[in-house]
Amino acid sequence: MTVSVPPSVKALLEALQNAGFRACPVGGCVRDSLLGKVPHDWDIATSAKPQEVEAALPGFSCIETGIRHGTVTVLSQGHPIEVTTFRIDGVYSDHRRPDHVQFTDQLALDLQRRDFTINAMAWEHGQVIDLFGGRADLQAGVLRCVGEPEVRFEEDGLRILRALRFASVLDFSVEEKTAQAVHQQRDLLRKIAAERLYAELRKLLCGPAVGRILRAFSDVCFTMLPQLAPLASCPQHTPYHDCDAWEHTVRAVEAAPPDPLLRLTMLLHDAGKPACRSTDADGIDHFYGHEKESANIAQEIVRFLHLPTKEARVVVQAVERHMLPMSPSRPLLQRRLRQFGPDFCKFLLQVQRADTKAQPSHLHFRLEQIAESEAIIDTLLEENACFSLSQLAVRGGDLLACGLSGPAVGKALDALLQAVVEGNCPNEKQALLSFWKTHLSS
Ligand code: ATP
Ligand code: MG
Repeated sequence: MTVSVPPSVKALLEALQNAGFRACPVGGCVRDSLLGKVPHDWDIATSAKPQEVEAALPGFSCIETGIRHGTVTVLSQGHPIEVTTFRIDGVYSDHRRPDHVQFTDQLALDLQRRDFTINAMAWEHGQVIDLFGGRADLQAGVLRCVGEPEVRFEEDGLRILRALRFASVLDFSVEEKTAQAVHQQRDLLRKIAAERLYAELRKLLCGPAVGRILRAFSDVCFTMLPQLAPLASCPQHTPYHDCDAWEHTVRAVEAAPPDPLLRLTMLLHDAGKPACRSTDADGIDHFYGHEKESANIAQEIVRFLHLPTKEARVVVQAVERHMLPMSPSRPLLQRRLRQFGPDFCKFLLQVQRADTKAQPSHLHFRLEQIAESEAIIDTLLEENACFSLSQLAVRGGDLLACGLSGPAVGKALDALLQAVVEGNCPNEKQALLSFWKTHLSS
């Protein structure tokens, strides 16, 4: 097991070491290297204080990103690298972040404050520094806190969600004492800033073991997002389902490609079912209007998680429309392109595919229809089929020349676009103008 340090990082390590400091890659980059993956970023820990870091690196541009916490971001060969002074975290009176940090010249103390054994290793002079059995845990596929789990979660409640994130992403099991503390102390998550929760939740949702983790730690998920808790006690006695609404939700998350917005949409898509459930005289459950109710809950959750506006809109809209007919018909799909645009239509089909995959196999014939609809949309886009005003072969000016003015121009353009989309008129200037004269001008 070795760590291959890229030249941009080597340059920094050498400069700091030549100035008499200890400096080594630490945390995620060591973990990922030992797993045989290419790290997506490199963090350096050093005995140099932030000012000393800057002084030791005269040829590099340094940005004082978190100087109070000892972090300087250094640009090396075009790559931003975080260089953080060895530190001991102070008291965590708010369960979020240390009130103050204390710099130290001891790497061991810096490693000891880190969350999990697999994240608490450093690489120095060609050797792994592994004080807490991180390498063994990596090999065994085990996620374990450094120190006493209760204490570590008490210090920073976010670690509870980070534990589940790493277990999901790495497909690791959660060591027993760590898992017990995750369950017992899950309420601490309520004190954590929503932005920090969402950053971890996105990654958790995209992990290969997301289903196993959501099932084993549903209580943690419901503590963070209490609106989802009723799903777990919502049976679905219908021909379309063979499990309760939570199990269906988890299967749908697993079935979606690992894209955070898609997977979040699946997590929320049926959240309104419990409130909409009714049972008829034959004992069959119905969930009339659950898409709208789910969208209301999704709206609440994306606001709570502080999703960026655009992402929030996609998720809420997709939840609301997850049952929208998207059957493989050219005119229908051209109309959908007009209503929602290509990106959303493709997103919606992926949502419907994941939803279908999470249903019993006698409904899987729908997967073929979804693939057909995707192919039709691709063809429509390739053919540059008209679905927006900007593609229409007449412009406002053409209608002004025909004597229209004011809002009537916009209305006429909309009507003509509709005629093209519905297949009632070809998208050609003369044809459109005569269509307008014959059908719309009165
Ligand atoms: P990723 O691949 O997601 O970047 P990472 O391990 O680098 O994984 P970061 O969130 O970037 O995770 O954190 C970098 C390192 O800082 C971690 O490996 C860990 O050692 C330490 N760390 C981060 N957050 C915490 C925390 N809340 N408590 C203790 N240590 C933490
Ligand atoms: Mg990182």
